[in-house]
Amino acid sequence: MQARLKSNFYLAMISLVGLIIIVFLTPYGIYRLLSGNIVVGIADLVMVLVSICSVIYAWRTDNTKGPGFFMAVVFCIGVTVVCIKLGSDGLFWLYPFIVFIFFLVSPIKALVLLLLSLSVLVGFALFNPGQIFASSFQLISFTVTCFITSLFAYLFAYRTLTQREALRTLATTDSLTGAANRRTLDEALIAAISQYKRNGAQFGLMLLDLDYFKHINDNFGHKTGDNVLMELVPILKNMVRQHDIVFRFGGEEFVVLVTDIGSADLDKLAEKLRAGVEQKLVLPGGQHVTVSIGVAMLQADEDWEAWLHRADMALYQAKNLGRNKVITG
Ligand code: GH3
Ligand code: MG
Ligand code: MG
Repeated sequence: MQARLKSNFYLAMISLVGLIIIVFLTPYGIYRLLSGNIVVGIADLVMVLVSICSVIYAWRTDNTKGPGFFMAVVFCIGVTVVCIKLGSDGLFWLYPFIVFIFFLVSPIKALVLLLLSLSVLVGFALFNPGQIFASSFQLISFTVTCFITSLFAYLFAYRTLTQREALRTLATTDSLTGAANRRTLDEALIAAISQYKRNGAQFGLMLLDLDYFKHINDNFGHKTGDNVLMELVPILKNMVRQHDIVFRFGGEEFVVLVTDIGSADLDKLAEKLRAGVEQKLVLPGGQHVTVSIGVAMLQADEDWEAWLHRADMALYQAKNLGRNKVITG
C-alpha cells in the first residue's frame, strides 16, 4: 500500500483529499441534517459518498483521472450549493476547495471548474442581493480573493506539472537519440510479461545492432557516428506502429518491443526494418549502413532476461552469418 502511494502521486492525492473530506465533512453533513438544513446536509454527504466511491475505484483500477474529475465536478457543484444555502458562513469552504481541485484534475480543468463555480455564485448573489453576502463590498472582496487564489494555485500547479513532465522525459529517454532508455526497457518487458500472463497478449522483441559501427566512427569521426544513431531512431519509429516502442539498449544496440503480433508477422516486420534501414541510412560518402536483428517472441513461463537472451543469441547468429540479416531465436 505504501509503495503504491509512493509511486502513484495522483492516487496519493485522491486518497488524501478523499480522507480529509470524509473526516471533516461527515460531522458537518450530519449536523446540518439534524438541524433541519436538509439541502446543505445532503450536499455535504453526497460529497462524502462520492469521495468514498472515487477513492475505492481509484485503488481498485489504478485509474485516477476519471474519479479525480468526478470528485472535482461534484465538489464544485456541492460547494456552490452550500455557499448559496448557508450564505457567508459557507464561503470559507471555497478556499480549501480551490486548493483541493488542483490535486484532482489537470490545472486548466481545475481553473475552468473554479471559475464556473465562482461565476454561478456571483451571478446568484447579484440577482439575490443580501442572500449570500452581507454587502457589495464583501461580494467584491470575496470575488477578487477567490480569483487571485485560483490564479496562483493554477500557476503553481502548472509549473509543477511541466517540471514533473520534464523530469519524466529526462529519466526515461536517451538524450542522444530520443529513444526510450535502458531503464524503461526493463520495466516495459516486465509489464509485457504480466500482460501476457493476464490475458495472453502476444509480444515480440527485436534486438538490433548496427553493422561495423566502429568503422563508421573510425572513418568518419564520432560526430558522424552520433548522427547515424540519431537518424536510425526515426527510421525505426516510422516503420513500427504507434504503441510499439524503440529503446536504445546501449552503444549502437537498439530494442524494439512489438505488441499484439504473431510470430510470422514479427519476422516480416523485422525484415522490413532491416531492409528499411539499409535503404534509408546512408553515410556522407554514400555508403549504406546496415543492421543485424535477433528476433524472439515471448514464450510461456519465460522471464524477461531469458526472453532478451534468446533475442541476443539470435543477433549473435545473425552477425556470425555475415551481418545485415534477421534471425529468429
Ligand atoms: P559489429 O558489426 O560486430 O556489430 O561491429 P561493430 O563495429 O558495430 O561493433 P563494436 O561493438 O566493435 O563497436 C561498437 C562501437 O560503437 C564502439 C563504440 O565506440 C561505438 N559507440 C558506442 N556508443 C556510441 C555513441 O554514443 N556514439 C558513437 N559515435 N559511437 C558509439
Ligand atoms: Mg554492439
Ligand atoms: Mg555493431
